Amino acid sequence: MRPMQEPSFWLSRLGPRLARPAVSADVDVDVCVLGAGYTGLWTAYYLAKADPSVRVAVVERERVGFGASGRNGGWASAKIAGIDRLLADPATRPGAAATYREMIATLGEMERVIVAEGIDCGWTIGGSVVAATRPSQVERLEESVAAEHAAGFDDTDLRWMEPDEARRVISTSRLHGATFTPHCAAVDPARLVAGLAEAAQRAGVTIYEQTPGTPVPGGIRTAGGRVMAPVVVEAVEAYRTSLPGRRRDIIPVYSLMVVTEPLPATVWDEIGLARRETFSDGRHLIIYGQRTDDDRIAFGGRGAPYHYRSAVEPGFDFDEGTSAFLRQTLVDLFPVLGGVRFEGPWGGPLAIARDWQPSILFDGATAVVGGYVGQGVALANLAGRTVRDLVLHRDTDLVRLPWVGHRSRRWEPEPLRWVGVNLARRLTESLDRAEDAGRRPRIRQAIFDRLPVG
Ligand SMILES: Cc1cc2nc3c(=O)[nH]c(=O)nc-3n(C[C@H](O)[C@H](O)[C@H](O)COP(=O)(O)OP(=O)(O)OC[C@H]3O[C@@H](n4cnc5c(N)ncnc54)[C@H](O)[C@@H]3O)c2cc1C
Repeated sequence: MRPMQEPSFWLSRLGPRLARPAVSADVDVDVCVLGAGYTGLWTAYYLAKADPSVRVAVVERERVGFGASGRNGGWASAKIAGIDRLLADPATRPGAAATYREMIATLGEMERVIVAEGIDCGWTIGGSVVAATRPSQVERLEESVAAEHAAGFDDTDLRWMEPDEARRVISTSRLHGATFTPHCAAVDPARLVAGLAEAAQRAGVTIYEQTPGTPVPGGIRTAGGRVMAPVVVEAVEAYRTSLPGRRRDIIPVYSLMVVTEPLPATVWDEIGLARRETFSDGRHLIIYGQRTDDDRIAFGGRGAPYHYRSAVEPGFDFDEGTSAFLRQTLVDLFPVLGGVRFEGPWGGPLAIARDWQPSILFDGATAVVGGYVGQGVALANLAGRTVRDLVLHRDTDLVRLPWVGHRSRRWEPEPLRWVGVNLARRLTESLDRAEDAGRRPRIRQAIFDRLPVG
């Protein structure tokens, strides 16, 4: 398969979009946001809504939604990166539980804005199902339910389904049970980010496109002029490594996707997913799928190589080995899909901090936000409201969540980083191969949870 012209299938379906102007002169604002993905746009939106007198500009290097926000799998999940580990540890449990509860509420908040702003993005809170497609996955998935329940959550948040019940939700070729959580929505990511940009503009935000920016004291420097602002919000996620002083804050890791043609009702009768539940299985290498609002399956996974010195280039959005793996895996899960036509492939980088935890750092002048791993669709909304409160000096529950002010250590220098990350990727693949062959590889889950590919 050949890579797409547009950065993603989702963006290609938006059709022609009016270009917004680039910065062409010096500008003075109160808050300048770098990056027009979900993080930047939610932040700008909530600031403008909270106080219309605050002048907010968003400066985007390419187009709105060019980054992961226009390319992702469209899972808006209450689960954030690393939360299972933080819920399991008594020392971090209270903060993790508070964060998880805020994330559950975040789905309702996103729905409120989507409805209020008339954003047509195929949003449905149908929950999420993780199938055990190998016997070895059962124990891991049951443990995830037990850990969540031990942290004060219950079956209404995450529950185990025996095979008969699971099959009524998702009918994979091999099914040994599944977990189900109602706390996840499916969404067309590009329609969400495009609609959000329009909502932000209606609220008074100015968006500049085709404008690479560099943070400097007192604002942002661009080729067309300076955007002077007492507060700068860096919301560039995987592109953070290109900003001054940030090279080793996160690593960009690629996730890739494909999408089927629209599938007829007879196929859906066999597969299930009647409420558009997002789906995955319990293997080590992350895979994720959603039934789109026009009855396709959009399906993605990690496993593409990490590139030396954290390089991010358009050529890396495509990896034939990974896209073949995705097509084969989807047909393996649902044999009824044998022979269907696929579109795509596409992909993009996401950001992982050394300790796998997202964070918001704010020193009164600069906010640095992100490190969502592959779970930023809903978390970026919480980030936007939290940065709003920090910038407006509001003392709310949000600014006291543990990810605010959380600082991960930096990644190792090269070539250590390249060797370590790619070795971890290989290890993940070999764990899944071993389980496929009926072996039980011996690696402690706590170690596995820290590998940058799972
Ligand atoms: C293929 C894929 C699948 C994913 N699937 C899911 C999923 O199903 N669910 C989920 O929760 N998460 C998923 N993610 C992650 C999720 O998409 C991201 O966490 C989220 O979109 C991050 O939003 P953001 O606004 O922080 O960053 P981005 O959307 O990446 O936006 C950053 C923006 O900054 C701009 N920029 C960069 N440098 C500069 C500069 N110097 N000057 C100006 N602008 C700049 C970029 O052009 C970009 O538009 C996935 C990611 C990928 C790549």
